[in-house]
Amino acid sequence: MSGTIRFAPSPTGFLHEGHLLSALYVWAAAKKWDLKIHLRIEDHDQGRARKEYIDSIYEDLAWLGFRYDSESIQSSHFDFFQRILEKLDEKGLVYPCTCSRKQLIAENPRSETGEVIYQGKCRTQPHPCSEPHSLRIAIPDKVIDWHDERLGDFNESPKFQCGDFPIRDRDGFWTYQFAVCIDDIAQGITHIVRGEDILPSTARQILLSEMISDACDASKILPAYRRPLYLHHPLIVDSTGKKLSKREHAHSIRQDKDQGVSPEQLLGRVLYKAKMLSEDTPISLERAIALVAEKL
Ligand SMILES: [Zn+2]
Repeated sequence: MSGTIRFAPSPTGFLHEGHLLSALYVWAAAKKWDLKIHLRIEDHDQGRARKEYIDSIYEDLAWLGFRYDSESIQSSHFDFFQRILEKLDEKGLVYPCTCSRKQLIAENPRSETGEVIYQGKCRTQPHPCSEPHSLRIAIPDKVIDWHDERLGDFNESPKFQCGDFPIRDRDGFWTYQFAVCIDDIAQGITHIVRGEDILPSTARQILLSEMISDACDASKILPAYRRPLYLHHPLIVDSTGKKLSKREHAHSIRQDKDQGVSPEQLLGRVLYKAKMLSEDTPISLERAIALVAEKL
């Protein structure tokens, strides 16, 4: 085995066709590059994660026949996230932001994608802070050059994409960006294959991973950071070319299963919608993975 790839769903809903396509890409990449597969349940958002969704991830993957080499769930190591936060804090890289959502929208410019580009208003805020606040990471003005195996080269500056971003939200929950960076380093992830919708997060995740790695270097609580290989796969789109929303993915895998759809029928349908099969016809998991691997 030459590395590790992860499949990392959030248990904030039932898995749907979009997740299934992503899983096929991950398992195909593992086949192509001879990688171990790690299943990571990303339940960092404890306000939205639910046990029934966690259970259904395991059940749905088993029903479809996906096997993996190891697994983890983020909530089992939140205390570790806290230790990393303290390391960053010791370096003066974390600050409380008391801006409300309304203020954030009113007071900051937006990127082309509509994202707020936080201008650092609270950078000088006293710490600790008694008001409700998120914790933001003070990022440097740095251009990140990175490569996507499918889409080519990018050079992006998180400072101008989003500015200092939260690593813990106002409810005290760890953010996706923070949790994913720590876990990818701690779990030795060498390959990241995920949907194109996560593309804008990549530069900031590389930057944050470098910052985490620098801050933890002396303490050796994390392995050395090596930037993983990235591949962002196309999404299932509707007839106008728009990404399907959670609601538009008509059925969850669970609903299909309950209605008597077989795993092979579901796999065939997803590959047909992803334009990798010319007709909607049943296909085995093994053949589905091989077919996607050919596209990598
Ligand atoms: Zn603020």
